[in-house]
Amino acid sequence: MRRILIVGAGQSGLLLAHGLLEQGYEVTLLTGRTSDEIRYGPISSGQLTFPSVLAYERSRNLDFWGEQCPRFTSASLYYNTDSGEQASYLIGHMQGSGVSIDRRVKMADWLEAFEDRGGKVTIHGATVSDLDYFTRIYDLVVVAVGSGELGQLFEPDPSRSAGGRPVAAANAYVHGADPISRDRIQAAFAGDQATLTLDPALTPYGSAHHIALYAEPGGPADFSGERLSPDQKLHRLLEVFAQYAPQLRAQLSGARLVDQWSINLELVTPRVRQPVGELPSGGAVLGMADVVLSSPPAMMQGWNNSTACAAIYLDRIAAHGDRPFDAGFMREAFAAYWGYARYTAWLANLLAGVEQEDIPQHAFELTRAVGTTQAIADLLISGLDNPMRFAEEISTPEKAAAYLA
Ligand SMILES: Cc1cc2nc3c(=O)[nH]c(=O)nc-3n(C[C@H](O)[C@H](O)[C@H](O)COP(=O)(O)OP(=O)(O)OC[C@H]3O[C@@H](n4cnc5c(N)ncnc54)[C@H](O)[C@@H]3O)c2cc1C
Repeated sequence: MRRILIVGAGQSGLLLAHGLLEQGYEVTLLTGRTSDEIRYGPISSGQLTFPSVLAYERSRNLDFWGEQCPRFTSASLYYNTDSGEQASYLIGHMQGSGVSIDRRVKMADWLEAFEDRGGKVTIHGATVSDLDYFTRIYDLVVVAVGSGELGQLFEPDPSRSAGGRPVAAANAYVHGADPISRDRIQAAFAGDQATLTLDPALTPYGSAHHIALYAEPGGPADFSGERLSPDQKLHRLLEVFAQYAPQLRAQLSGARLVDQWSINLELVTPRVRQPVGELPSGGAVLGMADVVLSSPPAMMQGWNNSTACAAIYLDRIAAHGDRPFDAGFMREAFAAYWGYARYTAWLANLLAGVEQEDIPQHAFELTRAVGTTQAIADLLISGLDNPMRFAEEISTPEKAAAYLA
């Protein structure tokens, strides 16, 4: 039986671990935190699971939360000026429904389920010298540590673009938001200054709301340089909402953090890295998901990409049979993933109006009308589910017209 080690228990590592276990591999998951430490520890990122990802999770028997979890089918879109005045408003409808769940709940439950199903979990923060040793005793070592330091083992890949620009991101989970519709997510776009979101979410402390800010680093909406307590950070975040998204701030008058770990400020730099990490003794490890591609967070493609990466790596590993998992295999597996993942940059450039060889002019014309045309808002919101499929659906003016109709 082939032995595989996965380092990191996030969206990608856990999905791959469950998939391999189901196919009869001997899988060990190495993670720095226990399930309780994940569940009641710091938050990191956003939490939207789009319909196709949800369908994949269901196919692996990993949709545990049923009606407890808010399901969204539409998005309120506020288009504001740089100073927060509303220029237009639309509700975009999605094909299918997604769920909104705090990453801490999902990862903790999946980690426990992995052990219950016969997987082996070792609680240990891995180092480079650990990996060096593990490559000698496992057939394959996959590094899925997200934005963890171990990712620096993988060299940057300047030939590929992740799209977008560095972003100062702030995320928080709050109790006390107005209980408006549980089936709708909300976003406000304040010109070039900030994108702000407000969504219902299931947290370790029950129903709550997730709020997020994506701002230009060092710009007027970024307060990450200030030394603040968690409650002070929330206060500053709500001030930014008041300035740039008053429609969302009006729903947050009673907002308080669900716990002191429930606010996170982070600089996210979109980038692509090489998929093969070389170790001092000559062994090789395979980089996965955010380790190899960190995408612009406001595109909300992180979980889509992590899931695609897990599904594609799973297929490639299974198809590889008993052959060695060498650097050539790793590069091929990543190339297959990149065939999907490159559409995040495509989407980011399309929405920012940045010319790219494979973005047709009629697609730019479409997206310019997103704030004012209902059918285009619906088209775009559904496109977030799978940017590769979206690119194909609007690849010619005729296809786009048919899809809109
Ligand atoms: C601020 C922010 C907002 C985001 N918002 C969204 C959003 O709204 N929607 C969306 O789809 N995506 C979003 N993303 C992206 C999404 O969260 C990531 O793409 C996704 O979680 C990456 O999955 P992963 O498996 O690569 O890593 P992660 O889910 O980050 O998991 C990595 C795991 O590895 C563990 N680890 C780290 N170092 C080690 C080590 N040395 N040894 C052992 N374990 C280790 C960590 O503890 C963690 O459990 C956002 C990201 C950020 C940073």
